[in-house]
Amino acid sequence: ERMVEIEKFDYENSYEANLRPSAWDEYIGQEKIKKNLRVFIQASKKRDEALDHILFFGPPGLGKTTLAYLISSEMESNIKVTAAPMIEKSGDLAAILTNLEEGDILFIDEIHRLTPAIEEILYPAMEDYRLDIIIGSGPAAQTIKLDLPRFTLIGATTRAGMISNPLRDRFGMHFRMQFYESKELALIIQQAANKLEKPCDADAALEIAKRSRGTPRIALRLLRRVRDFAEVENEDHIHLERTKFALDELGVNERGFDEMDIKLLKLLIEAKGKPLGLSTIGAALSEDEGTIEDVIEPYLLANGYIERTARGRIATPKTYDVFKLSPKLQGAL
Ligand code: ATP
Repeated sequence: ERMVEIEKFDYENSYEANLRPSAWDEYIGQEKIKKNLRVFIQASKKRDEALDHILFFGPPGLGKTTLAYLISSEMESNIKVTAAPMIEKSGDLAAILTNLEEGDILFIDEIHRLTPAIEEILYPAMEDYRLDIIIGSGPAAQTIKLDLPRFTLIGATTRAGMISNPLRDRFGMHFRMQFYESKELALIIQQAANKLEKPCDADAALEIAKRSRGTPRIALRLLRRVRDFAEVENEDHIHLERTKFALDELGVNERGFDEMDIKLLKLLIEAKGKPLGLSTIGAALSEDEGTIEDVIEPYLLANGYIERTARGRIATPKTYDVFKLSPKLQGAL
């Protein structure tokens, strides 16, 4: 069973990688971030300096990794991609750093998960392009200093609050990723559909977009499912009717809520206006508090479905209305 899981994961990954924008104009939305990045990139190229270290934060699937790739191609530099859980020992990081070349980009996903010992090694590397290796222990311990090439660290995290201050301070640029408007997601969907050689009508793309929780990764996943339905019917393009049918068949909610969203909203509705604390919600949903705060809540907050008060979370009138008007959501209650 595990084998199947791994295969599915890789397949999903290569589907995403094939659809990853390779040029700035294919990267839709996040206009402010793009504009700022391009200025910084141009300036550093002009000065012939390595680009300052960059930190991206925001919920998963909003395009952090894609931005890192675009930056590297704009800088005409190599990119090494890794994730914090893969850097277990100080030797792992030392090996990565000493293999970098001048101007390279090192992308570390989930950077909030680095251990304090690893972070300590990263500080002088980021600040002075220096690697301090301690050999031996106690009074006989010696520090060897190695010069590193000037590189750019790009860190990505879903957990803005979890990253330590000293690490955060060493990034010259911080960018918070925004959820996407439906119109933007629709463009991403149409662009991907063209790459897949199964063009998608504008109204069909918008229908998928509305149910994608503001997230390109989810939009692309739904597109793939809808495409399967069109394929089976021998249709050469994706149209609205088939899209609606497919999404309903798949049980994708009209608002793009996923199972966890519905559980959380249901809990708040049942609390009848009494604010619920994060720990209460975590216990009721059997979900990690960090995941609730960084992955589930941001979309619901950004779209006015919940409010965070000093005493806890409450459902907004909009949420009560949505649930009242939707028989399907009521069924979930
Ligand atoms: P995670 O941190 O969970 O890895 P991420 O934020 O790095 O997520 P990406 O892997 O960059 O997300 O993006 C997911 C997919 O969505 C990519 O395959 C990419 O093709 C697509 N995508 C993301 N953002 C955009 C965008 N602005 N325009 C077009 N496609 C995008």
